[in-house]
Formats: sequence, C-alpha cells, structure tokens
Amino acid sequence: MDLGHLLHLLIPSWNSVAILALFFTYLAIAGPILPGKPVPGATLPDGSRLHYRCNGLLSLLVLVGLLGVGAKMDIVSLNAISDRGLELLSTTFLFSVLVTLVLYAAGCKSTNQGSSLEPHVTGNLLDDWWFGIQLNPQFMGIDLKFFFVRAGMMGWLFINLSVLARSVQDGTLSQSMMLYQLFCALYILDYFVHEEYMTSTWDIIAERLGFMLVFGDLVWIPFTFSIQGWWLLSNKMELGTAAVIANCLTFLIGYLVFRGANKQKHVFKKNPKAPIWGKPARVIGGKLLASGYWGIARHCNYLGDLLLALSFSLPCGISSPVPYFYPIYLLILLIWRERRDEARCAEKYREIWAEYRRLVPWRILPYVY
Ligand code: NDP
Repeated sequence: MDLGHLLHLLIPSWNSVAILALFFTYLAIAGPILPGKPVPGATLPDGSRLHYRCNGLLSLLVLVGLLGVGAKMDIVSLNAISDRGLELLSTTFLFSVLVTLVLYAAGCKSTNQGSSLEPHVTGNLLDDWWFGIQLNPQFMGIDLKFFFVRAGMMGWLFINLSVLARSVQDGTLSQSMMLYQLFCALYILDYFVHEEYMTSTWDIIAERLGFMLVFGDLVWIPFTFSIQGWWLLSNKMELGTAAVIANCLTFLIGYLVFRGANKQKHVFKKNPKAPIWGKPARVIGGKLLASGYWGIARHCNYLGDLLLALSFSLPCGISSPVPYFYPIYLLILLIWRERRDEARCAEKYREIWAEYRRLVPWRILPYVY
C-alpha cells in the first residue's frame, strides 16, 4: 500500500463521524438508564467518594443485540468498522484531541476545590493538556473517565467482531482467527463482568483525565490491541495441535493470575479480614496484603496481564513481529507503571511499604524481575 493511498484511507468521512457519534450517544443513554450495581469509588483526599454505576456488561449485550437485529434487517453492515478502520482511527484521534482541549479549558475555569474537580494547573500547556488538570471531570452527570474507558474496551470488541464478520464474508476464517477472537472476547466480557474492580485501579484513583488517558482509552486500546485481528485478515496462519494447546494454556494461566490477583486486592480492600486462598490474610500495617498473589510479587496482576497479551498474539505464529505489538507495548508500559506505582506507594505507605518490599522482593516476575 503506497503512502498516498494510506493517507487517503485516513481521511475522516461523515460515515465514521456518524458511527462514533452513535456509539457515544448510545453509551451516554444506556449508562444512566440501564440497571447496574452502584459501586462506591476510592475515598478521595477530601474524604468524598464517587459512585459508579457498573452496567457495562448489560450495555454491551444490549448493543450487540441491537446491532444483531439491525444486521438481520439490513440496516446495519457488520463490516462497517472493518471497512473503515483507518478513518475511524483518525476520527477518534481528532475527537480525543478536541475533547481534551475542551477539558483543559473547562478545567482551568473551574473554581471547585473538591478532589474530583479541583484544577491542577502547572502553567505548562502541553503538560497540563497531556496529563489533564482534573481528576474526575463530568459532563451532564456522566463521569468522563469511566465513560471513556468503557467506550475503549467495547470499541476493541466491536472492531474484532467486525474483522471476524469480514473474514467470514471473505471465506478466510481460520483456526488462528477463532482463537484470537475467542481469547479477546473472553477477556473483554470478563472485564465487564468485573467492571467494579476498575473503580479501584490506578487510572481511576490517581490519574487525571488528559490526552494521555483519553487517547489511551479511545484510540490506543481499540485500534492497537486489535492489530492481530487485522493481521490475520491478510495473513494465513496454520497452527499445529501442540501450538494450540500451548496457546490455550498461556491464556488460562494468564487469566487465573490476572483475575485472581486483582480479585484478591479488591476483596482485601473491602474486608482486610477476608481469607486469601483459604487462609487468614497476611497483612502489613493493617493496609497492605502480603499473601496470595500479592505475596508472590508486588504486581502479580501485571504478570497475568502480560501472559494474556501474549496469548492474543500467539495465534499469529512467529513469522512477523507485527502481531506482537500489544505484548511488547504492554511490557514496556507495565514496567514503567510499576515504577510509578512503587514510588506512589513508597510515599503513601512509607515504612509499611518498606516492610512489604522486604517480605516480597519481586516486582512482577519472581526470580527474574
Ligand atoms: P493495581 O491494580 O496493581 O493498583 C495499584 C494500587 O493498588 C496501588 O497504588 C495501591 O493503591 C494498591 N496496592 C498495591 N499493592 C498493594 C497491596 N499489596 N495490598 C493492598 N493494596 C495494594 O494497578 P493498576 O491500576 O495499574 O492495574 C490494574 C489492572 O489493570 C492490572 O491487572 C493491570 O495489568 C491492568 N492494566 C492493563 C493495561 C492494559 O493496557 N492492558 C494498562 C494498565 C493496567 P492504594 O493507594 O489504594 O492502596
């Protein structure tokens, strides 16, 4: 594909604007009206707590149902996304730039002194726009941070489903494509089943809403995590039985570690006396969990996520590095993130954290890192 053609495919069309607008409108309506468990977020520095309505799974299933009916009635094209991948990418990118400029301007004007909306302006425009200046900005009562991360995870699934529809239509559906689709769909569905765990993650608790997060949620997650699917559309890959088994095991172990670790921390935060792996939890300073997965490495959940990321790429074989973009990126991101989180926890927990480090010396992978 020459550069001119590539640039042409990137030009946003009104169709891609309409797809994005309809998607966001649906999420903005479904979020507040569909039933969902209200989950209190972490306690903010000023003592306040936000409440999140965790109905992402229902919102997703209703949308899949509506699109399915629309496709049956020939109103919706299942290939709409896969046929417009690049222009949807650039439309979403432009939207992220615009929305974060608006967030910056609105944040600067805010006089609210609460932890959620208090503006943190450094005076460096690029820095403030990139990292954001407010922790939890809202629009018409919608928590934008929670909204964008939900949109990004769903967007990833819809891109995949559209790629799947394209490969069925082209008659190129392979075992590799099915494995990739299955693993990602399970991961995304599981994410929404456990959406409430998101409320205690670093992004939600500590990161302000700027371009970095919005771009990460809306562009990076859906469009780069799906590279394997796009790659399999144009590359034929046959896997042997041993490779399929190894791939399934990588997914399964990754899932158990990832979900188990995140669940243990979530349960511990709610009830520090809850048993971990059937035994009383080992707790440091009444605040830090040092047993279960959190006694193996200080960020075992990252290890699980890395194995999962690898399992999404293994169906593509090893002939090209392109489908390994996601695990490689995630490795770099999680090492960087672990360092930032380590610094934050060291400052927050002080001697308790030092004690935890002594008890659990490994950061992510025992005996390696
Ligand atoms: P964590 O869920 O690990 O949260 C870190 C926070 O947990 C710390 O700041 C601290 O917060 C608390 N904590 C740390 N250690 C302990 C302990 N031993 N006992 C009790 N509390 C502890 O990090 P993230 O939010 O970064 O990640 C959440 C998940 O999201 C991970 O599984 C990660 O892999 C995944 N992720 C995926 C990405 C992707 O692109 N696929 C990107 C980023 C994350 P506190 O101050 O509340 O105690």
